Amino acid sequence: MYASEPINKNKRIIQYTGEKVSSTEADRRERRYQKKGQIWCFTLSRRWYRDGNVGGSTARFINHSCNGNCYSEVVDDVVWIRASKNIPKGAELSYDYNTKGEADMRCRCRPGCKSLI
Ligand SMILES: [Zn+2]
Repeated sequence: MYASEPINKNKRIIQYTGEKVSSTEADRRERRYQKKGQIWCFTLSRRWYRDGNVGGSTARFINHSCNGNCYSEVVDDVVWIRASKNIPKGAELSYDYNTKGEADMRCRCRPGCKSLI
């Protein structure tokens, strides 16, 4: 996903929406998604997740990067994607998923990145 206009640092860009599900249900779905190389469930707390694949906004298409230009902020059960720096028009948006390698997928933020998502 790309910036259609310049974005100021710390601006709330978009909400990561989607069905609110329990951690048990999120685990079940995420196993299925990961077989297709996808990650959709955003952690709200130890008990709750948001599944961006069910009723989610376009925020679900923002890619992971170890060194992105956005960050996520969870306020109660609302997830905001915010700018971590001033972002020029046309730049690709990305943020750190903070999944600690759980999905066992290779990060593609740059050639040769060894991190796991
Ligand atoms: Zn990376």
